[in-house]
Amino acid sequence: MRAEIVMIGSELLLGQNTDTNARFLGETLARHGIPLYRKTTVGDNLERLGAVLEEALGRADAVLTSGGLGPTEDDLTREAVAAVLGRPLELRQDLLDALTERFARMRRPLGENNKKQAWTPAGAEPIPNAIGTASGFIAEDPRGVIIAMPGVPRELYRMTEDHVIPWLRQRFALGEVLRSRVLKVSGVGESRVDDWIGDLIRTQQNPTVGVLASPEAVRIRITARAANEEEAAAAIAGVEATLRERLQDLVMGVEEDTLEGVVDGLLGQLGWTLALAEGPTGGLLAQRFTACGSKALVGGAVYPRAHAAPTPEAAAAALAEEARERWSADCGLATVHDPATGVNHGCFVTPEETVHWETGAPPDSGLLQRRAAAASLERVRRVLLTALGARNGRAPRFGDGF
Ligand code: ATP
Ligand code: MG
Repeated sequence: MRAEIVMIGSELLLGQNTDTNARFLGETLARHGIPLYRKTTVGDNLERLGAVLEEALGRADAVLTSGGLGPTEDDLTREAVAAVLGRPLELRQDLLDALTERFARMRRPLGENNKKQAWTPAGAEPIPNAIGTASGFIAEDPRGVIIAMPGVPRELYRMTEDHVIPWLRQRFALGEVLRSRVLKVSGVGESRVDDWIGDLIRTQQNPTVGVLASPEAVRIRITARAANEEEAAAAIAGVEATLRERLQDLVMGVEEDTLEGVVDGLLGQLGWTLALAEGPTGGLLAQRFTACGSKALVGGAVYPRAHAAPTPEAAAAALAEEARERWSADCGLATVHDPATGVNHGCFVTPEETVHWETGAPPDSGLLQRRAAAASLERVRRVLLTALGARNGRAPRFGDGF
Protein backbone atom coordinates (compact mmCIF):
# COMPACT_ATOMS: atom_id res chain seq x y z
CA MET A 1 0.00 0.00 0.00
CA ARG A 2 1.21 3.50 -0.68
CA ALA A 3 0.05 6.78 0.85
CA GLU A 4 0.47 10.40 -0.16
CA ILE A 5 -0.34 13.54 1.75
CA VAL A 6 -1.68 16.79 0.35
CA MET A 7 -1.24 19.89 2.47
CA ILE A 8 -3.78 22.55 1.60
CA GLY A 9 -3.48 26.26 2.36
CA SER A 10 -2.04 29.29 0.60
CA GLU A 11 -0.51 30.36 3.91
CA LEU A 12 1.75 27.31 3.71
CA LEU A 13 3.01 28.37 0.27
CA LEU A 14 3.52 31.93 1.45
CA GLY A 15 5.68 30.76 4.29
CA GLN A 16 3.35 32.22 6.90
CA ASN A 17 2.76 28.90 8.62
CA THR A 18 5.22 26.12 9.22
CA ASP A 19 3.80 22.87 7.93
CA THR A 20 3.86 21.03 11.22
CA ASN A 21 0.95 18.83 10.13
CA ALA A 22 3.12 17.26 7.42
CA ARG A 23 5.80 16.59 9.95
CA PHE A 24 3.27 14.97 12.24
CA LEU A 25 1.71 12.88 9.48
CA GLY A 26 5.11 11.76 8.17
CA GLU A 27 6.21 10.65 11.59
CA THR A 28 2.89 9.02 12.49
CA LEU A 29 2.47 7.11 9.24
CA ALA A 30 6.03 5.83 9.51
CA ARG A 31 5.50 4.76 13.08
CA HIS A 32 2.51 2.70 11.96
CA GLY A 33 4.29 1.12 9.04
CA ILE A 34 2.35 2.99 6.36
CA PRO A 35 4.66 3.90 3.48
CA LEU A 36 4.39 7.56 2.55
CA TYR A 37 5.53 8.19 -1.02
CA ARG A 38 4.95 11.86 -1.59
CA LYS A 39 3.86 15.15 -0.10
CA THR A 40 2.30 17.95 -2.12
CA THR A 41 1.51 21.45 -0.89
CA VAL A 42 -1.14 23.41 -2.73
CA GLY A 43 -2.90 26.75 -2.21
CA ASP A 44 -6.60 27.44 -1.71
CA ASN A 45 -7.53 27.16 -5.37
CA LEU A 46 -10.21 24.79 -6.60
CA GLU A 47 -8.63 23.98 -9.93
CA ARG A 48 -5.10 23.36 -8.65
CA LEU A 49 -6.35 21.42 -5.64
CA GLY A 50 -8.47 19.24 -7.92
CA ALA A 51 -5.50 18.58 -10.18
CA VAL A 52 -3.29 17.64 -7.24
CA LEU A 53 -5.89 15.24 -5.86
CA GLU A 54 -6.45 13.69 -9.27
CA GLU A 55 -2.74 13.03 -9.68
CA ALA A 56 -2.25 11.72 -6.17
CA LEU A 57 -5.19 9.36 -6.56
CA GLY A 58 -3.62 8.07 -9.75
CA ARG A 59 -0.49 7.00 -7.86
CA ALA A 60 -1.48 6.24 -4.28
CA ASP A 61 -3.92 3.93 -2.54
CA ALA A 62 -4.64 6.48 0.16
CA VAL A 63 -4.47 10.26 -0.12
CA LEU A 64 -4.60 12.14 3.17
CA THR A 65 -5.38 15.84 3.04
CA SER A 66 -4.94 18.56 5.64
CA GLY A 67 -6.88 21.83 5.65
CA GLY A 68 -9.60 23.61 3.73
CA LEU A 69 -12.53 22.14 5.63
CA GLY A 70 -13.50 25.37 7.39
CA PRO A 71 -16.60 27.47 6.80
CA THR A 72 -15.02 30.23 4.70
CA GLU A 73 -14.92 30.89 0.95
CA ASP A 74 -11.35 29.72 0.61
CA ASP A 75 -12.05 26.36 2.22
CA LEU A 76 -12.45 24.24 -0.91
CA THR A 77 -11.49 20.70 -0.01
CA ARG A 78 -15.07 19.34 -0.01
CA GLU A 79 -15.80 20.79 -3.44
CA ALA A 80 -12.51 19.62 -4.90
CA VAL A 81 -12.88 16.04 -3.65
CA ALA A 82 -16.50 15.87 -4.89
CA ALA A 83 -15.37 17.09 -8.32
CA VAL A 84 -12.49 14.62 -8.54
CA LEU A 85 -14.73 11.72 -7.54
CA GLY A 86 -17.47 12.92 -9.88
CA ARG A 87 -20.08 13.00 -7.14
CA PRO A 88 -22.29 15.76 -5.76
CA LEU A 89 -21.97 17.18 -2.28
CA GLU A 90 -24.78 16.13 -0.01
CA LEU A 91 -26.08 17.66 3.17
CA ARG A 92 -25.81 15.23 6.04
CA GLN A 93 -28.55 15.70 8.57
CA ASP A 94 -26.51 14.02 11.33
CA LEU A 95 -23.65 16.48 10.84
CA LEU A 96 -26.05 19.43 10.68
CA ASP A 97 -27.68 18.32 13.94
CA ALA A 98 -24.29 17.99 15.60
CA LEU A 99 -23.26 21.46 14.38
CA THR A 100 -26.55 23.01 15.54
CA GLU A 101 -26.11 21.49 18.95
CA ARG A 102 -22.49 22.54 19.18
CA PHE A 103 -23.25 26.16 18.30
CA ALA A 104 -26.13 26.23 20.75
CA ARG A 105 -23.79 25.06 23.48
CA MET A 106 -21.30 27.79 22.56
CA ARG A 107 -24.16 30.36 22.50
CA ARG A 108 -23.28 31.28 18.96
CA PRO A 109 -25.63 31.58 16.01
CA LEU A 110 -25.20 28.94 13.31
CA GLY A 111 -24.62 31.00 10.17
CA GLU A 112 -25.07 29.88 6.58
CA ASN A 113 -21.27 29.64 6.28
CA ASN A 114 -21.07 27.22 9.13
CA LYS A 115 -23.73 24.97 7.60
CA LYS A 116 -21.27 24.35 4.81
CA GLN A 117 -19.45 22.08 7.21
CA ALA A 118 -22.37 19.64 7.23
CA TRP A 119 -21.85 18.79 3.56
CA THR A 120 -19.67 15.92 2.35
CA PRO A 121 -19.18 14.23 -1.02
CA ALA A 122 -22.00 11.75 -1.56
CA GLY A 123 -21.25 8.35 -0.06
CA ALA A 124 -18.38 9.58 2.07
CA GLU A 125 -18.03 8.47 5.66
CA PRO A 126 -17.66 11.37 8.10
CA ILE A 127 -14.83 11.37 10.65
CA PRO A 128 -16.01 12.87 13.93
CA ASN A 129 -14.12 15.87 15.28
CA ALA A 130 -14.15 15.69 19.07
CA ILE A 131 -12.64 19.14 19.57
CA GLY A 132 -13.68 21.32 16.62
CA THR A 133 -16.45 22.11 14.17
CA ALA A 134 -15.00 20.68 10.96
CA SER A 135 -15.59 16.98 10.63
CA GLY A 136 -13.33 15.10 8.30
CA PHE A 137 -14.41 12.46 5.84
CA ILE A 138 -13.28 9.29 4.11
CA ALA A 139 -14.31 8.98 0.46
CA GLU A 140 -13.59 5.74 -1.39
CA ASP A 141 -13.18 5.45 -5.12
CA PRO A 142 -12.01 2.62 -7.38
CA ARG A 143 -8.65 4.41 -7.70
CA GLY A 144 -8.11 4.75 -3.98
CA VAL A 145 -9.35 6.55 -0.91
CA ILE A 146 -9.26 10.24 -0.03
CA ILE A 147 -9.18 11.05 3.66
CA ALA A 148 -9.83 14.71 4.40
CA MET A 149 -8.93 16.28 7.72
CA PRO A 150 -9.05 19.86 9.04
CA GLY A 151 -5.90 21.95 9.16
CA VAL A 152 -6.03 22.92 12.82
CA PRO A 153 -3.14 20.87 14.20
CA ARG A 154 -4.64 19.48 17.38
CA GLU A 155 -7.81 18.47 15.51
CA LEU A 156 -5.81 16.73 12.81
CA TYR A 157 -3.60 14.97 15.36
CA ARG A 158 -6.58 13.66 17.25
CA MET A 159 -8.40 12.46 14.13
CA THR A 160 -5.32 10.78 12.75
CA GLU A 161 -4.59 8.83 15.91
CA ASP A 162 -8.18 7.98 16.84
CA HIS A 163 -9.74 7.26 13.46
CA VAL A 164 -7.54 7.44 10.42
CA ILE A 165 -4.72 5.13 11.44
CA PRO A 166 -7.04 2.39 12.77
CA TRP A 167 -9.14 2.70 9.61
CA LEU A 168 -6.11 2.43 7.31
CA ARG A 169 -4.65 -0.51 9.20
CA GLN A 170 -7.88 -2.39 8.92
CA ARG A 171 -8.71 -1.42 5.35
CA PHE A 172 -5.25 -2.33 4.03
CA ALA A 173 -4.68 -5.23 6.44
CA LEU A 174 -1.40 -3.76 7.60
CA GLY A 175 0.67 -5.95 9.81
CA GLU A 176 4.12 -4.58 9.14
CA VAL A 177 5.98 -2.01 11.19
CA LEU A 178 8.47 0.57 9.97
CA ARG A 179 11.21 1.54 12.41
CA SER A 180 14.13 3.87 12.05
CA ARG A 181 17.23 4.85 13.92
CA VAL A 182 19.50 7.84 13.44
CA LEU A 183 23.30 7.79 13.78
CA LYS A 184 25.00 11.16 14.03
CA VAL A 185 28.40 11.88 12.58
CA SER A 186 30.24 15.07 13.47
CA GLY A 187 33.35 16.84 12.29
CA VAL A 188 33.05 15.81 8.62
CA GLY A 189 30.74 16.89 5.82
CA GLU A 190 28.05 15.00 3.99
CA SER A 191 30.20 14.30 0.95
CA ARG A 192 32.95 12.67 3.01
CA VAL A 193 30.34 10.49 4.65
CA ASP A 194 29.10 9.56 1.20
CA ASP A 195 32.62 8.48 0.25
CA TRP A 196 32.55 5.92 3.04
CA ILE A 197 28.97 4.67 2.98
CA GLY A 198 27.56 5.83 -0.37
CA ASP A 199 27.32 2.26 -1.69
CA LEU A 200 24.99 1.37 1.20
CA ILE A 201 22.88 4.46 0.60
CA ARG A 202 22.46 3.48 -3.03
CA THR A 203 22.01 -0.28 -2.74
CA GLN A 204 20.43 -1.06 0.62
CA GLN A 205 16.75 -1.97 0.13
CA ASN A 206 15.51 -3.04 3.53
CA PRO A 207 16.68 -1.52 5.79
CA THR A 208 17.33 1.60 3.75
CA VAL A 209 20.13 4.03 4.58
CA GLY A 210 19.61 7.76 4.06
CA VAL A 211 21.79 10.77 4.82
CA LEU A 212 20.72 14.22 5.89
CA ALA A 213 23.11 17.09 6.57
CA SER A 214 22.22 19.29 9.52
CA PRO A 215 24.21 22.22 10.93
CA GLU A 216 26.31 20.22 13.35
CA ALA A 217 26.07 16.62 12.41
CA VAL A 218 25.41 14.46 9.43
CA ARG A 219 22.37 12.37 10.28
CA ILE A 220 22.33 8.84 8.91
CA ARG A 221 18.90 7.25 9.07
CA ILE A 222 18.45 3.49 8.96
CA THR A 223 14.85 2.47 8.24
CA ALA A 224 13.62 -1.11 8.40
CA ARG A 225 10.32 -2.65 7.44
CA ALA A 226 9.51 -5.89 9.23
CA ALA A 227 6.74 -8.11 10.52
CA ASN A 228 7.25 -6.93 14.08
CA GLU A 229 9.33 -4.76 16.40
CA GLU A 230 11.94 -7.40 17.17
CA GLU A 231 12.68 -8.18 13.54
CA ALA A 232 12.91 -4.49 12.69
CA ALA A 233 15.31 -3.91 15.59
CA ALA A 234 17.49 -6.84 14.53
CA ALA A 235 17.64 -5.66 10.91
CA ILE A 236 18.59 -2.14 12.03
CA ALA A 237 21.26 -3.47 14.39
CA GLY A 238 22.92 -5.35 11.52
CA VAL A 239 23.16 -2.25 9.32
CA GLU A 240 24.20 -0.10 12.27
CA ALA A 241 27.12 -2.44 12.95
CA THR A 242 28.29 -2.12 9.34
CA LEU A 243 28.03 1.67 9.45
CA ARG A 244 29.93 1.89 12.72
CA GLU A 245 32.60 -0.42 11.37
CA ARG A 246 33.15 2.00 8.50
CA LEU A 247 32.76 5.29 10.32
CA GLN A 248 34.37 4.33 13.59
CA ASP A 249 34.50 7.21 16.08
CA LEU A 250 33.14 9.72 13.62
CA VAL A 251 29.81 8.45 14.93
CA MET A 252 29.19 11.00 17.64
CA GLY A 253 25.89 9.64 18.91
CA VAL A 254 22.41 8.44 18.06
CA GLU A 255 18.88 9.85 17.86
CA GLU A 256 18.64 13.05 19.92
CA ASP A 257 22.22 12.99 21.22
CA THR A 258 23.97 16.37 21.15
CA LEU A 259 27.66 17.18 21.00
CA GLU A 260 27.58 18.88 24.38
CA GLY A 261 25.71 15.96 25.94
CA VAL A 262 28.24 13.50 24.54
CA VAL A 263 31.17 15.66 25.71
CA ASP A 264 29.62 15.95 29.15
CA GLY A 265 29.26 12.17 29.31
CA LEU A 266 32.90 11.64 28.31
CA LEU A 267 34.07 14.14 30.93
CA GLY A 268 32.03 12.18 33.47
CA GLN A 269 33.67 8.90 32.44
CA LEU A 270 37.08 10.49 32.89
CA GLY A 271 36.05 12.05 36.20
CA TRP A 272 36.96 15.52 34.92
CA THR A 273 35.23 18.84 35.51
CA LEU A 274 35.17 21.71 33.02
CA ALA A 275 35.48 25.51 33.12
CA LEU A 276 34.83 27.81 30.16
CA ALA A 277 36.35 31.07 28.92
CA GLU A 278 34.31 32.24 25.96
CA GLY A 279 35.25 34.90 23.42
CA PRO A 280 33.49 34.47 20.04
CA THR A 281 31.13 31.79 21.40
CA GLY A 282 29.79 34.49 23.76
CA GLY A 283 28.25 32.14 26.32
CA LEU A 284 26.78 29.70 23.80
CA LEU A 285 28.90 26.86 25.12
CA ALA A 286 27.76 27.61 28.67
CA GLN A 287 24.16 27.81 27.49
CA ARG A 288 24.39 24.48 25.70
CA PHE A 289 26.03 22.67 28.61
CA THR A 290 23.48 24.13 30.98
CA ALA A 291 20.56 23.17 28.74
CA CYS A 292 21.74 19.56 28.53
CA GLY A 293 21.95 19.30 32.31
CA SER A 294 25.74 19.14 32.38
CA LYS A 295 27.34 17.58 35.43
CA ALA A 296 30.90 18.40 34.40
CA LEU A 297 30.60 22.17 33.97
CA VAL A 298 31.58 24.07 37.10
CA GLY A 299 31.88 27.64 35.84
CA GLY A 300 32.57 29.97 32.97
CA ALA A 301 32.98 33.56 31.87
CA VAL A 302 32.49 35.57 28.70
CA TYR A 303 35.27 37.79 27.32
CA PRO A 304 33.78 40.11 24.71
CA ARG A 305 37.13 41.71 23.87
CA ALA A 306 40.29 39.95 22.81
CA HIS A 307 42.96 39.57 25.48
CA ALA A 308 46.29 41.27 25.01
CA ALA A 309 48.74 38.50 24.22
CA PRO A 310 51.61 38.01 21.77
CA THR A 311 49.53 35.60 19.65
CA PRO A 312 45.89 34.43 19.58
CA GLU A 313 47.11 30.93 20.51
CA ALA A 314 48.80 32.35 23.59
CA ALA A 315 45.65 34.31 24.46
CA ALA A 316 43.50 31.18 24.18
CA ALA A 317 45.92 29.11 26.26
CA ALA A 318 46.11 31.80 28.95
CA LEU A 319 42.30 32.04 29.14
CA ALA A 320 41.80 28.28 29.30
CA GLU A 321 44.34 28.07 32.11
CA GLU A 322 42.79 31.04 33.91
CA ALA A 323 39.30 29.50 33.75
CA ARG A 324 40.59 26.20 35.02
CA GLU A 325 42.27 27.84 38.02
CA ARG A 326 39.45 30.21 38.81
CA TRP A 327 36.89 27.38 39.12
CA SER A 328 39.32 24.70 40.30
CA ALA A 329 38.31 22.59 37.32
CA ASP A 330 40.24 19.71 35.76
CA CYS A 331 39.85 21.12 32.26
CA GLY A 332 39.66 24.58 30.74
CA LEU A 333 38.12 25.38 27.36
CA ALA A 334 38.66 28.80 25.74
CA THR A 335 37.56 30.40 22.47
CA VAL A 336 39.30 33.53 21.15
CA HIS A 337 38.60 35.66 18.10
CA ASP A 338 41.49 37.27 16.25
CA PRO A 339 40.17 40.47 14.66
CA ALA A 340 43.34 40.84 12.57
CA THR A 341 42.72 37.63 10.59
CA GLY A 342 39.04 36.93 11.35
CA VAL A 343 40.06 33.47 12.54
CA ASN A 344 38.74 31.85 15.73
CA HIS A 345 41.15 30.08 18.02
CA GLY A 346 40.35 27.44 20.56
CA CYS A 347 42.33 25.87 23.35
CA PHE A 348 41.49 22.92 25.57
CA VAL A 349 43.62 22.16 28.61
CA THR A 350 43.25 18.83 30.39
CA PRO A 351 45.33 17.33 33.20
CA GLU A 352 47.22 15.48 30.46
CA GLU A 353 47.66 17.84 27.51
CA THR A 354 46.96 21.20 25.87
CA VAL A 355 45.32 21.21 22.45
CA HIS A 356 44.92 24.14 20.04
CA TRP A 357 42.75 24.57 16.94
CA GLU A 358 41.54 27.22 14.53
CA THR A 359 38.20 27.70 12.78
CA GLY A 360 37.49 30.00 9.85
CA ALA A 361 35.13 32.90 10.28
CA PRO A 362 31.81 32.95 8.40
CA PRO A 363 30.42 36.40 7.58
CA ASP A 364 27.54 36.66 10.02
CA SER A 365 28.10 36.75 13.73
CA GLY A 366 25.35 34.31 14.79
CA LEU A 367 26.77 31.71 12.46
CA LEU A 368 30.27 32.50 13.67
CA GLN A 369 29.19 31.84 17.22
CA ARG A 370 27.53 28.53 16.34
CA ARG A 371 30.39 27.30 14.17
CA ALA A 372 33.00 28.17 16.77
CA ALA A 373 30.96 26.33 19.41
CA ALA A 374 30.43 23.25 17.24
CA ALA A 375 34.09 23.11 16.19
CA SER A 376 35.22 23.42 19.80
CA LEU A 377 32.89 20.72 21.05
CA GLU A 378 33.98 18.34 18.30
CA ARG A 379 37.67 18.94 19.09
CA VAL A 380 37.05 18.41 22.77
CA ARG A 381 35.13 15.21 22.03
CA ARG A 382 38.14 13.85 20.13
CA VAL A 383 40.60 14.81 22.85
CA LEU A 384 38.43 13.14 25.48
CA LEU A 385 37.93 9.97 23.42
CA THR A 386 41.69 9.77 22.98
CA ALA A 387 42.26 10.18 26.73
CA LEU A 388 39.66 7.52 27.44
CA GLY A 389 41.11 5.25 24.77
CA ALA A 390 44.56 5.51 26.36
CA ARG A 391 43.07 4.08 29.54
CA ASN A 392 41.31 1.26 27.76
CA GLY A 393 44.16 0.48 25.39
CA ARG A 394 42.10 1.43 22.35
CA ALA A 395 42.99 4.39 20.15
CA PRO A 396 39.94 6.06 18.60
CA ARG A 397 39.71 6.40 14.84
CA PHE A 398 38.27 9.50 13.24
CA GLY A 399 38.36 8.59 9.63
CA ASP A 400 41.62 10.35 8.78
CA GLY A 401 43.48 8.26 6.29
CA PHE A 402 40.47 6.09 5.43
P1 ATP B 1 -11.13 25.25 10.28
O1 ATP B 1 -12.27 24.45 10.75
O2 ATP B 1 -10.37 25.82 11.44
O3 ATP B 1 -11.44 26.29 9.28
P2 ATP B 1 -9.68 24.08 8.11
O4 ATP B 1 -9.76 22.68 7.69
O5 ATP B 1 -10.31 25.09 7.24
O6 ATP B 1 -10.17 24.16 9.60
P3 ATP B 1 -7.43 25.62 7.56
O7 ATP B 1 -8.33 26.82 7.47
O8 ATP B 1 -6.78 25.18 6.35
O9 ATP B 1 -8.20 24.43 8.22
O10 ATP B 1 -6.40 25.89 8.69
C1 ATP B 1 -6.80 26.31 9.96
C2 ATP B 1 -5.58 26.70 10.74
O11 ATP B 1 -4.81 25.54 11.00
C3 ATP B 1 -4.64 27.60 9.96
O12 ATP B 1 -4.90 28.95 10.20
C4 ATP B 1 -3.30 27.23 10.50
O13 ATP B 1 -3.02 27.97 11.65
C5 ATP B 1 -3.44 25.79 10.86
N1 ATP B 1 -2.88 24.95 9.81
C6 ATP B 1 -3.42 24.67 8.62
N2 ATP B 1 -2.66 23.84 7.91
C7 ATP B 1 -1.59 23.58 8.69
C8 ATP B 1 -0.41 22.77 8.53
N3 ATP B 1 -0.21 22.06 7.42
N4 ATP B 1 0.48 22.74 9.52
C9 ATP B 1 0.26 23.46 10.65
N5 ATP B 1 -0.81 24.22 10.87
C10 ATP B 1 -1.73 24.30 9.91
MG1 MG C 1 -9.99 27.28 7.08
